[in-house]
Amino acid sequence: MPAIHELSAEEMKRASNIVTTLGDTLKIFEELRIKSFENWQFDENEKCSVLEMARAGFYYSGNSKDDDSAICFVCGKVLDGWENTDDPWMEHQKHSANCKFVQMRRSEDDLTLEEFLDLCEHIIKQFLTNQFRKKEAAFIKRIEKIRDILKSQQY
Ligand SMILES: [Zn+2]
Repeated sequence: MPAIHELSAEEMKRASNIVTTLGDTLKIFEELRIKSFENWQFDENEKCSVLEMARAGFYYSGNSKDDDSAICFVCGKVLDGWENTDDPWMEHQKHSANCKFVQMRRSEDDLTLEEFLDLCEHIIKQFLTNQFRKKEAAFIKRIEKIRDILKSQQY
């Protein structure tokens, strides 16, 4: 395996694409979380404006105009029913006190590189664990189906 500085232009591009995809999927950067709130119901001077939502770790996760659900990019907590007086940090803390981002309670610009990388590691681990659990659940379901088929064939 070559070191990063030994990669060819093509390999470098491939690695860069993977990192970009991962970043897009996991909404690690505030900028991507801001972009997710396309038709957010509150304007910029309200407490739960797009910027404040994104700063507090949320990105839009709803799938219709009436759905105001937002999800935390670190802990995965989904919150909906937002009101203009809601403070995203306060709501985040109230509903997910153990979230690593809540415990840091700092926006992206105020994090040190070490804290940011620590957060990335945590998110990626969480993401992989969730992916694994989904696959595991699907696998178990499949096994149960096969077992049922085998059972029904015994008489
Ligand atoms: Zn969280």
